[in-house]
Amino acid sequence: MNNEILDPIVISEQQFDKARAYISHLQTGLIDFLKQPKHIHIVNFPIELDDGSVQTFHSYRVVHNRVFGPGKGGIRYHPDVTQEEVVSLAKLMTWKCALANIPFGGAKGAVVCNTKELSSNELRRITRRFTSELRALIGPHTDIPAPDMYTNEQTMAWIYDTYDTLNPGKNNLPVVTGKPVNLGGSYGRSEATGQGCLYITERFLSKKLIPGLTKISGARVAIQGFGNVGSVAAHAFKEQGAIIIALSDSGGCVYSESGLDLEEVTAYKTEHGSMVGLPGTLSLTNEELIEIDCDILIPAAISNQIHADNVNNIKARLIVEAANNPTTPTADKVLQEKGIYLIPDIMANAGGVTVSYYEWVQNQANEQWDLEVINARLKKKMYNSVDSVFKRWQAFLVCEETAIDSETDTQLACPDFRTVALINAIERVANATLIRGIWP
Ligand code: NAD
Repeated sequence: MNNEILDPIVISEQQFDKARAYISHLQTGLIDFLKQPKHIHIVNFPIELDDGSVQTFHSYRVVHNRVFGPGKGGIRYHPDVTQEEVVSLAKLMTWKCALANIPFGGAKGAVVCNTKELSSNELRRITRRFTSELRALIGPHTDIPAPDMYTNEQTMAWIYDTYDTLNPGKNNLPVVTGKPVNLGGSYGRSEATGQGCLYITERFLSKKLIPGLTKISGARVAIQGFGNVGSVAAHAFKEQGAIIIALSDSGGCVYSESGLDLEEVTAYKTEHGSMVGLPGTLSLTNEELIEIDCDILIPAAISNQIHADNVNNIKARLIVEAANNPTTPTADKVLQEKGIYLIPDIMANAGGVTVSYYEWVQNQANEQWDLEVINARLKKKMYNSVDSVFKRWQAFLVCEETAIDSETDTQLACPDFRTVALINAIERVANATLIRGIWP
């Protein structure tokens, strides 16, 4: 096994440092400010379980930066989630919002729990207690949660209801996004991350960087994760003519060279708890899925799936990071050397926060926009994101823009797309910080 460091804080700092090497005018003190979270809130709280026993749950809410507006970021329920992971995900949200030009800062939250072992009533009690503990920190203009892994519309409805009960007499709908459509949610929000992934990919392919792969139609696609993001992406790519050759969930992967029938996969998963074993398909592991011979690989589950040990076996021609942090810095370097393009998470999965922002705007005015309006706006945002990153990348490629390595005094090579996206995002946040003026 390779001794790669997988600490999420170390990884986010490595990515940040790689990008800031191209930004000559960043002051040291400002770099420190951008690297650190604004605040970390840790809460332990007891919950009475259905059998009458009491269990203490550990939870976090982190705000990384609020220069552009209220903190924004999902709440994850996962047994392995750590403070370091939540901090790194909050940072990612800052860059994601800045890159998409959305007036939010970066935040993230988590409760350490296994939703598969908890009843709906227990999850409701956990969510209400967690929300009440965060009461003074979250708010429509301070910090706005949203869904993430193993949380959903129902979780967001409970958060809204709890916050609204504790803060009566105001329009509290904008305190949380990803709500059910009949409770202030936006059309298209639950599909937005997967749908945004499609728009980002089709725009990227239209740049004709990959010979023979210039459109979604006919592309052979493998997707890790069949939750909110992965399942919507699978349907969206298939509708555009892609062949979904592999899909997975936490139980494993199903593969069919001629293409999977998504309705069959869903029905089998609903009946058996996992898609593995679906008749007419080959069963593989999640590790094997990453190395599948395909055109487009979409990691849409957990972090660190493409790493030093498997990156040399990657056969995909394009990687689209629907998940957050699925690729390690070592793997990034190898992919660039191998000429495999990667659309980074802060571009590829920004559709979710984009439509969350539209939901927040609708909530302020008590309006509900049509799905066509939402998707047209989302598409434009995603296309603009690709265009701006691509333009800057080309400037580096043809040496219109250059940067010098401060240690070796030599010219830095053309950065990969993650680094260019981060350069754009970090510059925006740094410039806004200085324009606002350092307080006091
Ligand atoms: P989800 O809980 O709906 O689905 C997660 C999926 O991952 C499930 O299919 C699960 O079986 C699978 N999975 C879990 N552990 C796995 C493992 N060890 N190996 C392989 N698969 C595994 O979550 P989601 O909302 O679809 O989020 C997926 C990813 O997308 C996460 O990284 C999340 O941070 C990111 N993301 C989500 C949103 C959003 O709007 N939901 C927005 C941006 C980014």
